[in-house]
Amino acid sequence: MNKARIAEVFDSVQGEGLYLGEKQIFVRFFDCNLSCSYCDTKLDRFMEYEPQELFEEIKLYRDKYHSISFTGGEPLLYNIFLKEILKLTKARGHKHYLETNGTLVPELESLIDQIDIVAMDLKFPSSSGMGNLWSMHRKFLKIASRKEVFLKAIICQATLEDDLRVALNLIKEESPASVLILQPNSYENSSTLDEKLMRYKEICSQENVTACVIPQIHKIVGLK
Ligand code: SF4
Repeated sequence: MNKARIAEVFDSVQGEGLYLGEKQIFVRFFDCNLSCSYCDTKLDRFMEYEPQELFEEIKLYRDKYHSISFTGGEPLLYNIFLKEILKLTKARGHKHYLETNGTLVPELESLIDQIDIVAMDLKFPSSSGMGNLWSMHRKFLKIASRKEVFLKAIICQATLEDDLRVALNLIKEESPASVLILQPNSYENSSTLDEKLMRYKEICSQENVTACVIPQIHKIVGLK
């Protein structure tokens, strides 16, 4: 049976990245293939859905929305489920926004035609504690760049400039028009990160990669 474990379905406004402030329907998948040190997605329960059941729930949201955000956890763990639900929601005129950790390459390949916007994380080893994921990120970005894609990197006290430079090379080689969002770790005092963020933004500019510093606004203003 093609089922997915989904932690929540709700509507709100996007709180991070390039589509900050856009009204979306959020589908948050429960499971993740990574365990980043700064993870703020503390999921403790889920419901199992078949694609048609999720579609019926999505249909209850009747306002005008920018898109449906498939988020997590890691939505691509459910690529077979997604393939079905995306067919249904596309036929109803929804736009698809995929929020992903940028590591599940064949899963993205199987779905990219049905995705409109990819919000892809770059997991810097020094920030995430997840080791070296660069080669997966490279293959993933190559596929994602067939569609609109922007990148997001969490910047912490521990983040190393070397990781930023690897990321910039990767962006320049695979998707030079993509914007890199530098996102301060919301668990750390942002004022102590300000100087680092500004220095990193300057390095991006010297390397001809467009970068923005955008914190997670939903946490600051208390939105879901
Ligand atoms: S990829 Fe995202 S959801 Fe998964 S552990 Fe890392 S921060 Fe948490």
